[in-house]
Amino acid sequence: MKCIWLEAGALQHKNVPTPQPAQGECLLAIKQAGICGTDRELLRGYYNFQGIAGHEFVATVERGSAAWQDKRVVADINISCEVCEHCSRGLQHHCPQRRVIGIKDQTGAFAEYMCIPERNLFELPASMSDYQAVQLEPLAAALQILDQIALDATDRVLVVGAGRLGRMVCRVLKARGQKISVLVRDKAKVAKTLDGIDVLSQADLGSLFNIVIECTGHQDGMALALAAIEPRGTIVVKSTYANPLTIDMSQLVVNEISLVGSRCGDLGKAISWMVDNGEEFDLHLKNDKVHAFALSEYQQAFDEAANTGLEKVIFNQFDR
Ligand SMILES: [Zn+2]
Ligand SMILES: [Zn+2]
Repeated sequence: MKCIWLEAGALQHKNVPTPQPAQGECLLAIKQAGICGTDRELLRGYYNFQGIAGHEFVATVERGSAAWQDKRVVADINISCEVCEHCSRGLQHHCPQRRVIGIKDQTGAFAEYMCIPERNLFELPASMSDYQAVQLEPLAAALQILDQIALDATDRVLVVGAGRLGRMVCRVLKARGQKISVLVRDKAKVAKTLDGIDVLSQADLGSLFNIVIECTGHQDGMALALAAIEPRGTIVVKSTYANPLTIDMSQLVVNEISLVGSRCGDLGKAISWMVDNGEEFDLHLKNDKVHAFALSEYQQAFDEAANTGLEKVIFNQFDR
């Protein structure tokens, strides 16, 4: 099969043997795969990744048990061992032996086919478009915040960064009626895409916020979050950084700031949310905010993915 191979900071389009499903696994034919910031970080050396990346996808079960055959699916990207102490406590996303699709020790979706355990699959409702489905993984990551912190109507919430994840977090909070502001570098660039949300630049940061959600994906995002948080506030960190970060811990201690790391979420919850709120995602298709490529156009696709103004860059032609 054809795939995009990532090695030593470079990409190539190459042929590899089609994977064969092991016991309990199925073979997926990838329909769409999205490029996200993490994939670009992998290219820069995050996790020392080598192989086929891609963890945002929608696929069809090409070969599997009768219950899953031909179903249109998404999948939890964390493949856990199911027997360790973490797994038995329901913390599969934190299993020390976990493999992560397209990120850690597990082949990803920038390929014609992929094998994964059937227990990771989620069937999609027929009403959901492939474009909505390919965004369920980042949507679940945004929804995860609501499982980790209690938000009420009086909270003053600031989202730092209006890249793809930042905008996803804004949508999720806006849909539940939360009043939010978003801190960006260039107001003129994003104002249109964030309808109904208070857009601030650093110069506008007069008052402090009691909840700050760091979504920049950049090393300097945490400094912005620290500058905007009030005493006893909570900073939720969604960014992962390729390099270790130095921060002033004393500021956290003195101001009694809570720091909450936040990663993957529950795909089942993301599917329900998308069923209720999905129209906005298809709107972006009409606004030409999604660029689609064939797998062979990988270089152009990865270059385009650097443009954070686009909602999504996806592969949707696999030339099978
Ligand atoms: Zn991602
Ligand atoms: Zn485990």
